[in-house]
Amino acid sequence: MDTYFAADYAEARAKFLESAKAVDVPKWKFDHPLTGPSGEALGTDIVWLGAENARNVVVAGSATHGIEGFCGSGCQTGFLTENWMSRLAADTALVLVHANNPHGFAHQRRVNEDNIDLNRNFIDFDAEIPDSPGYAELHPALVPDAWDGTAREAADAAIADYKAREGLPAFQQVTSRGQYTHPDGLFFGGTGPSWSRRTIEGFARTHMSAVKRIAVVDFHTGLGPRGYGEIIGRGAPGDPQYERTVAWYGPDVKSAAVGNSASVRLNGTIDFGYRRACPQAEQTAITLEFGTLPLEEVHEAIRADNWLYAKGGAAASPHFKSIKAQMRAAFYGEDSQWKKDIWVRGQEIVEQALAGVGS
Ligand SMILES: [Zn+2]
Repeated sequence: MDTYFAADYAEARAKFLESAKAVDVPKWKFDHPLTGPSGEALGTDIVWLGAENARNVVVAGSATHGIEGFCGSGCQTGFLTENWMSRLAADTALVLVHANNPHGFAHQRRVNEDNIDLNRNFIDFDAEIPDSPGYAELHPALVPDAWDGTAREAADAAIADYKAREGLPAFQQVTSRGQYTHPDGLFFGGTGPSWSRRTIEGFARTHMSAVKRIAVVDFHTGLGPRGYGEIIGRGAPGDPQYERTVAWYGPDVKSAAVGNSASVRLNGTIDFGYRRACPQAEQTAITLEFGTLPLEEVHEAIRADNWLYAKGGAAASPHFKSIKAQMRAAFYGEDSQWKKDIWVRGQEIVEQALAGVGS
């Protein structure tokens, strides 16, 4: 089971594609225009397990947040290696989307090549752009001019002040909801559809136009108790999608709209892409969120990585190695117990998704 999980993007992709060789099913490769840190090619790879005309489809996706892809990629390789194709009901397919954000995965960043948080990018850019009250006030402290000395000290003090005054939940909400005003800032949702969004929506429009029911299971890491997989549903009691989510996955379902989730309410998550591309389908989406380190440590890693590329000169910075190690610890458990926890829970959830979507 440990072998399903990789040490870097290139290895994760190779494991996924190698394990997919055993099944004679449709596969697609979407080449990303940029390369990885060692010059390696990047892309989103999709394997369609089950009938091509299946009316019920579970989409299990990885690496929407780049570096978080170690988790979902390991499970996707496991589903292929352990022949989940043989478990599928006649009218149900399991679609594995490997590396929604391959550039972030390869460069061990949460964001994409344009500093876009892909899970904030699926808004309607032709409609009113969501506002982000409070973000502008915090931005200078979140992205200090320097990572050492007085600039950093003043920035840290401003953040500590804010947390003391407003509380940690308010800080999390203001910073991570998604903002569309500061391209060099944290949780930036972009100014238009990214490469990844165009790729995913294009695929879904082309190949999923006859699907009746879609279950989205998007694998993430970095929030909640270590190794635990929190099911984050959409909406609140009374909403049909929320009620389906509870019926399929049980009473442990959380939701930001209910206020009991490790995540705050977000703008522009990836399920809106599938909804836009497949308006004919009934959708039941969850984010499957696996914990790693405490929230404030994860947030500090995101802040450090953002600074590194916005102001620090990226790979040329003396802080590069330590910040990359910080990111990796924040988004990849790496020890055997963590991987085992992910694999056990990942199987359980995707099994429930397959049963639910076919029910
Ligand atoms: Zn995530």
